[in-house]
Amino acid sequence: MTSSNTSTNTAESIVSVQIGPVKVGAFMHQQQLLETIISPDGQVFAGAAIAINPEKVMAARHDPKVAAMLSQAELRYADGIGVVMLMRRRLKQPVQRIPGCELWQSLMLRCAAYQVPVYLVGARSEVLAQTKVKLVHQGVPVVGATDGYFNDEQQLLAEIRQSGAKVIPVAMGSPRQEQLIARLRQQLPDCFFMGVGGSFDVFTGQVKRAPALWCRLHLEWLYRLLSQPSRIGRQGRLVQYLWLAIWERI
Ligand code: UDP
Repeated sequence: MTSSNTSTNTAESIVSVQIGPVKVGAFMHQQQLLETIISPDGQVFAGAAIAINPEKVMAARHDPKVAAMLSQAELRYADGIGVVMLMRRRLKQPVQRIPGCELWQSLMLRCAAYQVPVYLVGARSEVLAQTKVKLVHQGVPVVGATDGYFNDEQQLLAEIRQSGAKVIPVAMGSPRQEQLIARLRQQLPDCFFMGVGGSFDVFTGQVKRAPALWCRLHLEWLYRLLSQPSRIGRQGRLVQYLWLAIWERI
């Protein structure tokens, strides 16, 4: 399916929608994306996935380097109601929002089910240690882990290689994690990478996720803003995004 602002994703026959300079894959449910990452016969997708929200779309509009970095990930999925609404309106299909944190947790369970080896990168060392324990308890084959404050990238690369990992979640926040993924994937072309931001903190209870009602009302971003007011600068472009989206100017 192709039109002026929609096209078919090369990674799969997944329709994508152009939002500003970013093409976003229209997934109808999370399982569709999970099965793209680890196929029903256990094949792991070689490449990277990245969550797209209005903040990233706006950053890409202002900075071609950000746009280029986002386009390096083959699987761009909508994590942000502002992006999903626009996609639904343009496609006239029930595109689903896929929260990155939930996708990551489901992917870990899929790794457990298919015994796909995982190497964890990112977060503070105690958070990482707790994340690892919890995942191993769920049956996830965690073959290695390095916290997000390492200073020898070559050593990290060597460790991942030696571990035989196939899936590598990177929890270092944007754009740090995407930049690292861009470098690592050149050396590890058979692996799957996913930037997961603060997911390890949420998973271990260091950072609270918004209560269910806020999530249902799609106000998770507001909850995060109120509980971490320092994020105001990062979310400042949201209003501008909404304005452009309402008038179909993006
Ligand atoms: N972090 C890291 N290395 C750094 C800076 C940050 O591993 O040099 C980790 C930090 O411990 C936290 C996560 O990155 O776990 C930041 O999450 P944030 O919520 O800022 O990411 P977002 O989801 O907003 O991209």
